[in-house]
Amino acid sequence: MRLDIRSQTREELERQFATWEQPGYRVEQLLQWLYARRAASWDEMTNLPKALRESLRQSYDLQWPTVVRKQGANDATQKFLWRLSDGALIESVLIPASPSLYGEPSDRRTLCVSTQVGCAYGCKFCASGIDGWKRNLEVQEIVNQVLAIEREAKTEERVVNNLVIMGMGEPLANYDNLLKALKILNAPWGGKIGARKITVSTSGLAPQIRRLADDPAQYRLAISLHGATDETRARIMPINKKYPLKELTAACEYYQEKKGRMITLEYILIAGVNDGLDQTRSLAALARRLNAKVNLIPYNTVEGLPWARPEEAAQEAFHAALQAEGAVATLRREKGHDIDAACGQLRLKTERELVGS
Ligand code: SAH
Ligand code: SF4
Repeated sequence: MRLDIRSQTREELERQFATWEQPGYRVEQLLQWLYARRAASWDEMTNLPKALRESLRQSYDLQWPTVVRKQGANDATQKFLWRLSDGALIESVLIPASPSLYGEPSDRRTLCVSTQVGCAYGCKFCASGIDGWKRNLEVQEIVNQVLAIEREAKTEERVVNNLVIMGMGEPLANYDNLLKALKILNAPWGGKIGARKITVSTSGLAPQIRRLADDPAQYRLAISLHGATDETRARIMPINKKYPLKELTAACEYYQEKKGRMITLEYILIAGVNDGLDQTRSLAALARRLNAKVNLIPYNTVEGLPWARPEEAAQEAFHAALQAEGAVATLRREKGHDIDAACGQLRLKTERELVGS
């Protein structure tokens, strides 16, 4: 299989350029085209000699996703649906900081990226897993989600300065491609996004959490918990049978020890499923033990699924009970609710329209 140019690190490109007897500054020029100017074709790279462009064309692919749909929400959240070179659909969501929501001005512009086409983990509430898993994303398909959005914005300024790996798919099930993509997005010659501005979210793959703990990169980790007892969690997340809370917690503790940084526990509130006050005691105990922050997220309804978000009063009661138990917790006022912002939803809708169902 041919390599894509945006799956290559600077060191790999330097080695290749050395075999072509190209001077070092040519790598620099190429990187400028790839990551500062977000070139979508070889022909744009006008300051590279034609012969070099030809060698590059013959040796590497230069994939670029096409925008199938772009939706904006009232709060300026934008959702992008991309078509990849094999026709697969994936999505990314751009969430600009809103001073009115957070109370203080911030220039944080977060992009939520996908890591797989579909998802194999089949959490009951999630749109991404409904049609199963199709394939892993390649390194460049992860990287290009950031670059293509920046190219759309028609500016050479960085648009994305905060990255959350919370789109479609289970990131840690595509471990090698994800870590290489993040290395490129984090590099000063690449995406220039600080490691601490990158959060990887997982449904709880305990062995890969340990592997990430052993990696020198300082990414943030979020765990999709959504249930604080095995009984509640297993009902909505099949992965809990493979890695029950005891094992997941031990892996989180290991991560915490190795990295010395705070983990986030994501907890979507689903009416009548996991929003009972009986969950708050176990959840708070877990958060205290892991020195973790709890992020409560009201559920986003998914067409065709029976789940609903609790009333606001119930959300607030859950939040208050959690804090009373001594946990650090925030209740998110969901952004992008009106454009199906939760992962997988836009793709699901489009695929269904395409097949006419
Ligand atoms: N597979 C990874 C990352 C992608 S999902 C994981 O599960 O962590 C990103 C987050 O969105 C997860 O916390 C997931 O549980 C949550 N999510 C999925 N469907 C949702 C919905 N309909 N409403 C709100 N959050 C949802
Ligand atoms: Fe997959 Fe995450 Fe959705 Fe579960 S919540 S089905 S792991 S994308």
